[in-house]
Amino acid sequence: MQATPKSLRLHIGIFGRTNVGKSTLINALTNQHVAIISSQAGTTTDPVEKSMEMLPIGPVTFIDTAGLDDTTELGQQRVEKTLQVISRCDVAIIVCDNRGWGQYEVALFERLQEQKIPTIAVVNKIDIKAISQKNFAKIKDYCPEPILASLEQNRDIVPVLKEQLVRSMPEEFVLNQSIIGDFVSEGDTVVLVTPIDKEAPKGRLILPQVQLIRDLLDNNAKAVVVKVDQLQSALDNMKEPPKLVVTDSQVFDAVSNIVPSHVPLTSFSILFARHKGDLAAFVNGVQVLNLLPNGANILIAESCTHHAIDDDIARVKIPKWLKEKTGKDLHFDYVVGHDFPKDLKRYNLVIHCGGCMTNKREILSRIYRASQQNVAITNYGVVIAFCKNILDRSIEVFNKHS
Ligand code: SF4
Repeated sequence: MQATPKSLRLHIGIFGRTNVGKSTLINALTNQHVAIISSQAGTTTDPVEKSMEMLPIGPVTFIDTAGLDDTTELGQQRVEKTLQVISRCDVAIIVCDNRGWGQYEVALFERLQEQKIPTIAVVNKIDIKAISQKNFAKIKDYCPEPILASLEQNRDIVPVLKEQLVRSMPEEFVLNQSIIGDFVSEGDTVVLVTPIDKEAPKGRLILPQVQLIRDLLDNNAKAVVVKVDQLQSALDNMKEPPKLVVTDSQVFDAVSNIVPSHVPLTSFSILFARHKGDLAAFVNGVQVLNLLPNGANILIAESCTHHAIDDDIARVKIPKWLKEKTGKDLHFDYVVGHDFPKDLKRYNLVIHCGGCMTNKREILSRIYRASQQNVAITNYGVVIAFCKNILDRSIEVFNKHS
């Protein structure tokens, strides 16, 4: 994931006067010493960037800036470099101390608003002196949910701040990223295996299949769409092996037997877990299946309502496969649509659907909520691959790619 292109990372700029705790905030968020911290004002000179994977958002780059009120000899250069950061950040955090917002912060906020950059306010050092109600109210006029912090003392604000970051992420990070554009190049061929069975809607393909075909065409790659029994002849007719085969998870077994081992193979669900959620978190979460006690509670979350059929994936197939795989008596609850319990602690595992009808923000929030409560979370594609002993093959392509 370190190889995630910069353009696909959420850039979070940290702004504020000198010595209000900007670097300490980044260290709290990244859990390491990225910036140099000193009680002497103006320690941070050039913007310092730190790229990392941050649950629940994914790949981010923090940009730690110099204080814009720097009046030292080098101050003007620092100010210019800091202002350049405004034009390349997607979300901004203005850190102030217990003095609240003055002209300086208001001017900074207005510069950020000119470029329509969502802005979060953090009021640090309240352990030294509380902020007055009047000053706090003034900040709220600009940023409705300022966060009070004592960053030198503790990191309690990190979960709240992360939630605000998820809510503030620009839509293009949530909606518009390509599903497979970082993997295919112009002219590549990708084979899509789409069973036409009882679950297939009459007269059309399901949404993930349609979205992937469109995404491939947008990336000038070719999509070859086949049923399972057409796959062998489709592969035989190709002069060169396809760049990738993507299959419906439910026929992964059969497809895996046909696709030669040197040809990358994955499932729609795993592609969408990567696209809309956090594949690494889902793969990590599924490991809990090795440790489930008898009577374990599993929550299945489906992002849309659909008419359950006789051999429904969530209500029949996954419970059956899990009981076979674990040998345990398991209890399943279901939530549908935007319903998702606040308290997940009674569950040993949450299994999320592919989420083709929801957005990345919602799935990331759910992953984060589960991680905050130490509850494992995974998704359909990863569970099915795990149950059928094909998980390694279905994620190998992305391990090699990252
Ligand atoms: S949103 Fe979830 S439940 Fe609805 S069709 Fe997509 S994968 Fe299935």
